[in-house]
Amino acid sequence: PMKQRLLVVANRLPVSAVRLGEDSWSLDISAGGLVSALLGVRDVDAKWIGWAGVNVPDEVGQRALTKALAEKRCIPVFLDEEIVHQYYNGYCNNILWPLFHYLGLPQEDRLATTRSFQSQFDAYKKANQMFADVVNQHYEDGDVVWCHDYHLMFLPKCLKDFDSKMKVGWFLHTPFPSSEIHRTLPSRSELLRSVLAADLVGFHTYDYARHFVSACTRILGLEGTPEGVEDQGKLTRVAAFPIGIDSERFKRALEFPAVKVHINELKQRFTGRKVMLGVDRLDMIKGIPQKILAFEKFLEENPAWRDKVVLLQIAVPTRTDVPEYQKLTSQVHEIVGRINGRFGTLTAVPIHHLDRSLDFHALCALYAVTDVALVTSLRDGMNLVSYEFVACQGAKKGVLILSEFAGAAQSLGAGALLVNPWNITEVANSIAYALNMPADEREKRHRHNYAHVTTHTAQDWAETFVSELNDTVVEAQLRT
Ligand code: UDP
Repeated sequence: PMKQRLLVVANRLPVSAVRLGEDSWSLDISAGGLVSALLGVRDVDAKWIGWAGVNVPDEVGQRALTKALAEKRCIPVFLDEEIVHQYYNGYCNNILWPLFHYLGLPQEDRLATTRSFQSQFDAYKKANQMFADVVNQHYEDGDVVWCHDYHLMFLPKCLKDFDSKMKVGWFLHTPFPSSEIHRTLPSRSELLRSVLAADLVGFHTYDYARHFVSACTRILGLEGTPEGVEDQGKLTRVAAFPIGIDSERFKRALEFPAVKVHINELKQRFTGRKVMLGVDRLDMIKGIPQKILAFEKFLEENPAWRDKVVLLQIAVPTRTDVPEYQKLTSQVHEIVGRINGRFGTLTAVPIHHLDRSLDFHALCALYAVTDVALVTSLRDGMNLVSYEFVACQGAKKGVLILSEFAGAAQSLGAGALLVNPWNITEVANSIAYALNMPADEREKRHRHNYAHVTTHTAQDWAETFVSELNDTVVEAQLRT
């Protein structure tokens, strides 16, 4: 039989495209876990639809890029600079991202850079319709269409308006906030209604799903059931689908000779000291200042540890043109400078802070030599760094300190030390507890986490969502 076709629609295609000439492009496909999960769903023939991240104003360039991408199972949506500015920088990243992470709607700095809320929402809808137009051109009866993330909340409605029989799923990769937060959004109802046009709506955790159902009952006055949300007899199924990683890819990487060499170098470099690790995009939601302040408090209270521990903080630059992010960067630099000035010696400093990203192999080596990983997100949809750390700790069996406000706390809670990142005293105490933890407790906690991370993979996640979407549509047909 013919394989079912899956159209994955996300804001960004998993490629970076560089234009070499009028009609030639160089493509670099990102090899992340999500990409292999979605393109690797069993018995399904998947294609990816999204923006390539570049402005291509001319038709020759567009045709050439479309052709090059087709070989990689990718289909581009072309957005011009003005739309990208209003839809992506504006509505997605300045309004929805902070709101969904409980930072609220624009005030102060963010308000000053928000010219017109309404025109940004109009651009958002227009951009979503442009994604829908491309999906519709490629859609064939029986295809499954899976829409991703807060960029595309308007898409399910656009798709169902085109063909009400289309199988449409939507998954949110961020938290969905309490209805009390969502209700401040001027376009709160319109967005909820368009998401509800989907057959299946998925979230990382049960809490996010419940928040979404509450928002629909309180704001739209609809009925919430254990299955989802009901509107005049039509059910939108709502459920939790916690994402995972491709844990085998990390385990394999640790066996590469070059990675082993790197691991040994790192071990030598930090002999006699315990290694603590933070890996985050430099975003407000990651709680980086809170983490570093907790580390300072730990050093203050535990003088004996001062020359026996080092914190490596990888802070991947993100949205560097936005004033709020620039402020965060200088704030972090200031705190790190103060602490290194205070506790550093002529030969060593307690914090190594890097404003850069690392390649996959360097990251794996770091995960493997770490004694204690510190994830202090103030809000985080899932947090894959915590999963990746666990996958690389087969030998070392280190400790994970994890914010209870990360989605991962729901799945790794039994093995990790859960903390409230706002409580600096609690985090400082957890650092001390983690560094002093006896081997048998470390192993027991590690076993829990490792079992979860290696059995709940990204591929399982994708397969579960797609089969649930197919089932949901069949059940709906049986009901009518
Ligand atoms: N990452 C990376 N290079 C780096 C640091 C991190 O590619 O230098 C990756 C990391 O492996 C992880 C992702 O970035 O897969 C971060 O995902 P997470 O869910 O933790 O947070 P997000 O950045 O999506 O908010």
